Amino acid sequence: MDISKLTIVEARRALDAKEYSALDLTNAYLDAIRAKDGEIHAYLEVWEKSARDEAKTADEKIRRGKASTLTGIPIAIKDNILVEGRVASSASKILEHYVATYDATVIKKLKAQGAVFLGRTNMDEFAMGSSTENSAFGPTKNPHDTKRVPGGSSGGSAAAVAAHMALAALGSDTGGSIRQPASHTGLNGLKPTYGAVSRFGLMALGSSLDQIGQLTHTVADSQILFDAICGHDENDGTSLPDMKKNNAPMKRVIGVPRIFLEKGTDSDILACFEKTLEKLRAKGYTVVDIDLPNLSYSLAVYYIIQPAEASTNLARYDGIRYGLSMQAPSIQEVYSKTRGVGFGPEVRRRIMLGTFVLSSGYADAYYRKARSVRALIRADFTRAFESVDAVVTPTCPSPAFKFGAKSDPLAMYAEDIFSVPANLAGVPALSVPMGTVVSDDSDLPVGFQIIGPHGGEETLFAIGNDVEKFEV
Ligand code: GLN
Repeated sequence: MDISKLTIVEARRALDAKEYSALDLTNAYLDAIRAKDGEIHAYLEVWEKSARDEAKTADEKIRRGKASTLTGIPIAIKDNILVEGRVASSASKILEHYVATYDATVIKKLKAQGAVFLGRTNMDEFAMGSSTENSAFGPTKNPHDTKRVPGGSSGGSAAAVAAHMALAALGSDTGGSIRQPASHTGLNGLKPTYGAVSRFGLMALGSSLDQIGQLTHTVADSQILFDAICGHDENDGTSLPDMKKNNAPMKRVIGVPRIFLEKGTDSDILACFEKTLEKLRAKGYTVVDIDLPNLSYSLAVYYIIQPAEASTNLARYDGIRYGLSMQAPSIQEVYSKTRGVGFGPEVRRRIMLGTFVLSSGYADAYYRKARSVRALIRADFTRAFESVDAVVTPTCPSPAFKFGAKSDPLAMYAEDIFSVPANLAGVPALSVPMGTVVSDDSDLPVGFQIIGPHGGEETLFAIGNDVEKFEV
């Protein structure tokens, strides 16, 4: 068994053909973790024993001819998704010892299929960041160049899959946290339509932006995991009703928001992007320049709305209800001491930013204004999708950067320029590999982002497949 080339599709075939057992497969991944994760640090915790038990149960299911698509498939889970009885820390000191009391809906669905859970993966604390350097438990390294970040905030999930220490992984994406690490590690990453996948059991960051999604080696694998985790959930008030797959014929027209792309994007990334457009033209797509006039406000709008929602969501970590609790003479001091010790610098920065933009004197100037502009951004997309199947951009303006290179928070925020619009508009977006660029003698993967209309995941997979099929 060669796990360095394995996909879910191939593993399913081999498991069903009894070429190896689910236990063999799980053991192969556990061996890979033991061999490599000391250096990469993708995992915060590996669940060896339960993974083997789940693999044995999967083998039994396969033997009885009762296997589902994901039976026996070893996957990794981001540390902000609850698995009953397991620590879920969001890579924060404040939740270091917090044990989840129930399964997130996505976990329930994967358990029902008999998937194998290898462990929980590292991330930026509370999913705030673009590099995984904000983890309270140390950064994760990029398997393509260990001097560089894997992207964030789902950097542990991406590194685990890219280094073949999991066949696939779940992440969460509030402003790019699945797509960006996918881009930096050469994987596929989907941020589903807002409401397509239940958020029940996902630790809330920006509730109007958050979605769970998957990191995989291929588009076909992405589609399999998406089908497994999507669907209506009455436990999530923003969950969409089950939708019929949109099988409307595609126009085969792709839109490029040209003016938006050219400011501040590395020239070699733009060159890869142009090459990918060429491939799509060769596949019969028409590529047109389009104007989404409000897109350039996305980053400013995101960094008002996201901290605003984060500051209210994180109010629950008060030293009383969850996790860390510092002793102090008064309740007020319990709050401030616990939050001062428990939260890292980026989390504190966002709480302050969010509290400021929501405060009574400033909410009109910042928060409400940002919400109005968000509506304009959404309208730009709605208008664009009247004439194009998808809007495409590079996933990130630069390839994976070296540790410490973006220590200025504003430089880090600028990394999210292409990923935040899809979250603001609630539309789905897929990052697929579009080749590599060379930096300091390293070949660094870069991603092509395909943004679709609400519920347009099938369109993204179709276009993603056309891009992927050109890869050798
Ligand atoms: N990098 C963005 C941020 O720091 C997005 C994070 C995310 O998607 N969770 O907010």
